[in-house]
Amino acid sequence: MYVLPELPYAYDALAPVISAQTLHAHHDKHHRTYVEKTNELAAKAGLTGRPLEELVREARRRGETKLFNNAAQAWNHAFFWRCMTPEGDAAPDGALARAIDAAFGDFEAFKDAFVEEGFNHFGSGWAWLVTGSDGLKVITTHDADDTLVREGSYPLLVCDLWEHAYYLDFQNDRKRFLERWVAGVADFRFAAAQLAAADGKGEGFQYPAPQAGADGREASEAPRPNA
Ligand code: FE
Repeated sequence: MYVLPELPYAYDALAPVISAQTLHAHHDKHHRTYVEKTNELAAKAGLTGRPLEELVREARRRGETKLFNNAAQAWNHAFFWRCMTPEGDAAPDGALARAIDAAFGDFEAFKDAFVEEGFNHFGSGWAWLVTGSDGLKVITTHDADDTLVREGSYPLLVCDLWEHAYYLDFQNDRKRFLERWVAGVADFRFAAAQLAAADGKGEGFQYPAPQAGADGREASEAPRPNA
């Protein structure tokens, strides 16, 4: 069964951009529910024991919409937690800075593009910085949809655009949330490691490997992701 990964920082570490109250509700309630539903639906579909990345792709391939939505949301949230840091005011450097400059002009223009794209996204979803064969891009996906099922888009960063991500702290002001997020808590060191992984240098983010469940099914033999 899939586990709910712990936050990689304290619940109050991202305040005031994201309050402890938001993180408790978002991680302990929303994310937990997606993980629990995934376990329930994966068992019903006979798809236990594989890495979550594979489950998401298989659910999409089979047209198992409920399973896809919950599994993709479980993955997206785990990735989202890793995309943030209390030391999020550091600008990118090295290869990531060069890739951002090449794609957007400079870091300021990237931040504007990220905020605009997320702000203009209609309804719930996710704003991503991705890399692909034609360089870096900002894209959005609807609801649970994610980059795992988009050939050629490797995720560097994601921001949750669902209202539960920002409503307690910013009410309906998604634009302000995105501005504060990209300038205050986005983790460009994590994004740089993802970019390196996309170039074959090091391991990219992977969801924690499934554990043996109470029903005695075998845990996956997939390697544990880097802590
Ligand atoms: Fe969320």
